[in-house]
Amino acid sequence: CKEFPVVVVVVGASGDLARKKTLPALFSLFYHNLLPLSFAVVGYARSKLSVEEFRSSVSSNLVCRVGDRECCEAKTRAFLERCFYFSGQYGSLEDWLNFDRWLSEDIEPRMNQSDTATRGARRAPGRLFYLAIPPSVFAETLRSISRGAMAPEELGAWTRVIVEKPFGRDSESYMALRDLVAECFPEEALYRIDHYVGKPLVANLTTLRLGNFVFDALWNRHCIESVQVVFKEDFGVEGRAGYFDAYGIIRDILQNHLLQVLSIIAMDPPASPHAADINEAKLRLLYDIKPLHAKDFIIGQYDRYRSERGVPKDSCTATFAACVVQIDNERWRGVPFVMLAGKALDERKVYVKVAFHETPNHTFIPEELRDKRNTFYIEIQPRPAVELSFITKTPDLEGRVVQTKLDLVYNESFSAEAQDMPDAYERLISDAIVGDRTLFISDAQISRAWELFDPALKELERDPPVQPVIYPYGSKGPILPETLIKKYMAGRMQD
Ligand code: NAP
Repeated sequence: CKEFPVVVVVVGASGDLARKKTLPALFSLFYHNLLPLSFAVVGYARSKLSVEEFRSSVSSNLVCRVGDRECCEAKTRAFLERCFYFSGQYGSLEDWLNFDRWLSEDIEPRMNQSDTATRGARRAPGRLFYLAIPPSVFAETLRSISRGAMAPEELGAWTRVIVEKPFGRDSESYMALRDLVAECFPEEALYRIDHYVGKPLVANLTTLRLGNFVFDALWNRHCIESVQVVFKEDFGVEGRAGYFDAYGIIRDILQNHLLQVLSIIAMDPPASPHAADINEAKLRLLYDIKPLHAKDFIIGQYDRYRSERGVPKDSCTATFAACVVQIDNERWRGVPFVMLAGKALDERKVYVKVAFHETPNHTFIPEELRDKRNTFYIEIQPRPAVELSFITKTPDLEGRVVQTKLDLVYNESFSAEAQDMPDAYERLISDAIVGDRTLFISDAQISRAWELFDPALKELERDPPVQPVIYPYGSKGPILPETLIKKYMAGRMQD
């Protein structure tokens, strides 16, 4: 695949996502020799920028994680030489036709095709369109690209599109967007990113679970008491108030990122590591989840939220939400899966915590430790780590019984590799270039995710809406995941 020429077109190249994530990720892939030998990066946006201005804006965000300065500077120069820019309107067919002409006549011939295995038989580059634009212009952009700027299939070239959430606000808006997109591109050409799925520890969850007998054998309701999937941020909306207030934390984090992590944790073992089998296993799991209702949720809002710039004074948008998800299948029936996400909390952390049942034999456990559980803790960020807590004796004469942990902290155990840990976008863009769909989200998964959340969102946002519990900025939020689990176990969710 490295030998197949590729043009990556970053649509919305003047924006935040493109500058901070997409373009640096492409540079990092180039730095690690993971891009095809023959490639170009083309920015497309409405802003009028010269190629020099574009390259200068790209260069300000490029970072070399490893290697010396000389190497970094040389690679940066080489990367920037392969960056180009085209200014056009997103929905203008004429602009995309002009872009297509410019790309095939001016840029693609300059790509070093003599490096490729296709020497002699000239092959047109594949085109990967990365949409880093607001969702309001997705449909018109895709329609114009599909009519004016597709890679020539007759020359063996493919066209793929990467899109990122939000994928609608509910089932209805998602279906409408999906139908518009489906008129332009087949499902196989669409690479829907959920960047959480590309994070190293999330991408490793399946291997951790299924590659180790100790976990695989215990991964069911007979051994596991509860599971938490938690996302905590220690800051508020920070300049994203307009977007956030219209979506809220349930749509922004639970319906996509946390549900994806939960489905990887809870799915039945896929038949193979291939994309189709993994996606099938995740989808089956999503169909075993019971749709969520307002009664399954605790929602909150941090006390300063309504005075943030761009937030209406009477906004009821949740900045905190916690719910109990029930999975109605043989493996998990009766096990509460808590999803919790909050902004402006006491810390920044994303983790999964799997708690095993109480040890049946109390003979070796002192009274005060009897409510402790063996837990398997997976920290996704900021400090990727895996920890297993267990009961043991201290090695001194006193021999006290304590709870301690075995841990695998990535920065310590993989010190060399951890320094060079890729950003989620690197892994995902690299996969899209080689056509590996394993970590991308299928249409069926998104449709089902909305079906699961629609009833709760409708009930919470009815007129008048359910009032969120106000919590202090920087606090632990209105409820802890452990408290929610206890409430659920006691059948007291509404208290
Ligand atoms: P952005 O900076 O607001 O917009 C990207 C570019 O789109 C802008 O530079 C602008 O370029 C153009 N644009 C902005 N508003 C427009 C409008 N109303 N009509 C037409 N064009 C407009 O957005 P972003 O933060 O880069 O995010 C892009 C997409 O990724 C969004 O869908 C967002 O939800 C999603 N996303 C972003 C992040 C992030 O970290 N930023 C994370 C996850 C998902 P020109 O004026 O030059 O055309």
